[in-house]
Amino acid sequence: MTSSLPTDSYLFLTGEDAESADWPVTPFPEYTDDHLHQFVDHLWAACNGELVSGISALSSAGLYTLVVVMARVAGLGNQPPMVHRPVGAQLPAAVPELLAELRRRDRPDVGDGPAGPVRRGRLLRLVGGFTSLSQLGSTTHQRQKLSGACPFCDDAASFQVSLPAVTWRCFGCERSGGRREFAECLLTRALAHSAAPGHP
Ligand SMILES: [Zn+2]
Repeated sequence: MTSSLPTDSYLFLTGEDAESADWPVTPFPEYTDDHLHQFVDHLWAACNGELVSGISALSSAGLYTLVVVMARVAGLGNQPPMVHRPVGAQLPAAVPELLAELRRRDRPDVGDGPAGPVRRGRLLRLVGGFTSLSQLGSTTHQRQKLSGACPFCDDAASFQVSLPAVTWRCFGCERSGGRREFAECLLTRALAHSAAPGHP
């Protein structure tokens, strides 16, 4: 039988329980440039080049792919920026709409299902697009955490993902949350970047 542990169960694990606890992650593919460009081409055709009008029709996976597209277009992350001038031009109008849609979907009755490998995989897929994560160490406690550079304050090692809780936290800038909060931080930063003088 497959067990489905509550998200806070790691707090109560002791001794052998803790030693045997692992936190499986569903492996989702990385976001590649090809994938992102393909997605934008489809979206552009579907919404007749009016990004704002296309947002509410997207699936949840599509919304998060659009988050990655916007962040990459704004030059965030450790990879070369994605070049897509129409997306760049519509970013200031589309970001508030996308933020509102993410919040609307992030309710227990509308959301993406219970905690588990799939949720962990989705969080790691999004976070992994903007920072490289590695296991904190080899103890049971450390194996439950992944760490890396913070994509928001650029502190080299203060960013951590907790697999049991399916959350992240930066001990440098005190930002924290789940997948939606990470998307919100990205979009807020993307908006600031696109408003900065000198941005194409
Ligand atoms: Zn930070």
